Amino acid sequence: MIATDDSSQTVADRPAFFLKLEESIVSHKTCQKSFALLLINLKRFRRFNLSQGYLIADQLLQLFAQRLTSMAREQDFIARVGNAEFAMILPEILNEGHASLAAIKFINSLTEAFSLSGEQFYVNAHIGITLFPEHGLDAKELLQNTEKALSDAALNSESYALYSTETRHSDIQVWDIEKDLQRAIEQDQFELYFQPQVNLKTGKLFGAEALIRWKNGDKGFVRPDIFIPVAEDNGYIVPITQWTINAALWLKKEWPQSQNPLKVAVNISTRMLSQPDFVEMVQGALRIHDTSHEELTLEITESALVEDLSTSFKLLNELKSQGINISIDDFGTGYSSMAYFKNIPANEIKIDQSFVRYMLENQMDQHIVQTIINLARGFDLKVVAEGIEDQPTFDGLNLLGCDIAQGYHLAKPMPQQEFINWVKSYNR
Ligand code: C2E
Ligand code: MG
Ligand code: MG
Repeated sequence: MIATDDSSQTVADRPAFFLKLEESIVSHKTCQKSFALLLINLKRFRRFNLSQGYLIADQLLQLFAQRLTSMAREQDFIARVGNAEFAMILPEILNEGHASLAAIKFINSLTEAFSLSGEQFYVNAHIGITLFPEHGLDAKELLQNTEKALSDAALNSESYALYSTETRHSDIQVWDIEKDLQRAIEQDQFELYFQPQVNLKTGKLFGAEALIRWKNGDKGFVRPDIFIPVAEDNGYIVPITQWTINAALWLKKEWPQSQNPLKVAVNISTRMLSQPDFVEMVQGALRIHDTSHEELTLEITESALVEDLSTSFKLLNELKSQGINISIDDFGTGYSSMAYFKNIPANEIKIDQSFVRYMLENQMDQHIVQTIINLARGFDLKVVAEGIEDQPTFDGLNLLGCDIAQGYHLAKPMPQQEFINWVKSYNR
């Protein structure tokens, strides 16, 4: 079938989708047949939104919905259920293979570009698939499992994934990490690595980000993005953060002295922002290590910040008013509105490395980087770029007006002694 796009038509909304889902469950129960539920998520849509603006992005979504409709059978139902997420109910599906074929058909229809305002845009999507009644007996279970399949597709970089019981294995893994984590805290199995940050204009060393490493006896070094989410879930993040802040300030005292004191940046999880004694904890650590407030930076990811704007803004403002630096990490990925920017309780933003990485090859990424830098200028915020892997990107960021650089091009995160040696030879 040839894809024809007509943006004048619209698709059903969320409430209509829930009604249709309940209705399909009832009717398929009666006739003892299966239907498929598909969740379709547009990849990197947020970036597209940022670079092209909401108007174009919205038109693209409409065209995308129309493309799906044109590829669907008459009895299939399509709804927009999230910002860049669509759901499809495909009645009377024979088996998993049949459902997969339908998903492949929709994915294949995306190889053709979308024409908007005389420009050609390409869209990619992930699809999660479940069957009723095989993968869930009610709407709630079915939706949950379709979401699991969708995140499986995204995690494995597959265009589509069927729900399978294997998806549940990740829960078992979480349990293992949780048990081991308790031991890690008791036996002090953590270590801090430091990655330098350099002033792009002067070339002078600015400071370093502290990145936690877990030396697990059996598994070797466990990456923070594996165990931090588990620690956030079970509350271990509180003692871990306390340890991290203290270790960072303690180790910093051994760093070579420089004209402008170096800053150490520590990553702070969302969960800490709802900790009533968090401010006292930070103050206490600064006091114990006799370190001035300006030498500590707390990095909060943008997505964490927007989860609960009022609480986090209040707390971060308090810390900032005491002279502690606040940095918004992974900026550009947080699904936040630009409106909050005017009150942002920060001194610094860190452009997410996914925009920096391919900035020179990808015009859209470069637009985003430039837009973030311009925006920061207007609000008197310092801009850090992380994930700089080569000299051309380093130079490009300097031209775009970025302030601070961090990335493998300068150095990978290193243990304390290696970092100290690196600083000595850098200063030379
Ligand atoms: P992040 O704060 O955004 O840290 C940057 C990550 O990018 C680090 O990964 C760093 O090693 C990596 N990186 C830096 N430069 C480059 C580069 O040029 N290329 C590439 N490919 N990667 C680069 P790491 O250490 O694995 O940390 C991952 C994430 O885990 C961190 O992302 C942060 O969100 C979290 N994390 C690390 N340490 C802590 C901690 O002490 N507490 C908390 N709550 N989270 C932490
Ligand atoms: Mg960070
Ligand atoms: Mg980051």
